[in-house]
Amino acid sequence: MSQQIILASNNAGKIREFSELLAPLGFDVVPQGEFNIAPADEPFSTFIENALAKARHASAACGLPALADDSGICVDALSGDPGVISARYAGSECNDAANNHKLIAQMQAHQNRAAHYVCALVLVQSAQDPEPLVVQTRWHGEIIDVPRGAYGFGYDPYFLIKELGKTAAELEPAEKNHISHRGLALRELITQLKARA
Ligand code: IMP
Repeated sequence: MSQQIILASNNAGKIREFSELLAPLGFDVVPQGEFNIAPADEPFSTFIENALAKARHASAACGLPALADDSGICVDALSGDPGVISARYAGSECNDAANNHKLIAQMQAHQNRAAHYVCALVLVQSAQDPEPLVVQTRWHGEIIDVPRGAYGFGYDPYFLIKELGKTAAELEPAEKNHISHRGLALRELITQLKARA
């Protein structure tokens, strides 16, 4: 029988990726929207703090274990921006297209195209869990000016993985999950979970 776990996100791309990664391990990932849980505030300046706040918020609202990630893209030439505000880089009412448009405009002046995705992942057994499982990972690439690929979401069409010669949006979902910041973080979290059992 599968074990329900609340995912503290309503981002369709993340829901799909986490479901694909956790289903083989017997976890049934339920997005918090299905419990009518409103998104938590993300007021912090680190990915870890925001992920912890989201996980505690979701678990407090439904009484189940909760998994939260806070992720984003950090660009070297932009001193780590968009960072924790990646989802709303172009303003509070923005979308992927507007965020990408702003990023590419900001990059026009820069030769250094290095960037990395970050994923902070937190699993709490309860809202007051004193020992949350916490991991944070990176996925390195470069920002390109012309989008490529139709898979993925967010900044993926502009995120080139040099060694593959493909953008993240040109990777099929299973391929992306295998090497992405989120896939890596989840595998590390599962290792911790198994070590604790
Ligand atoms: P969060 O929901 O506050 O964690 O914001 C995450 C944001 O970072 C997303 O909305 C995207 O803009 C960006 N992001 C994080 N992971 C990815 C990814 O795998 N591909 C593309 N964009 C991502």
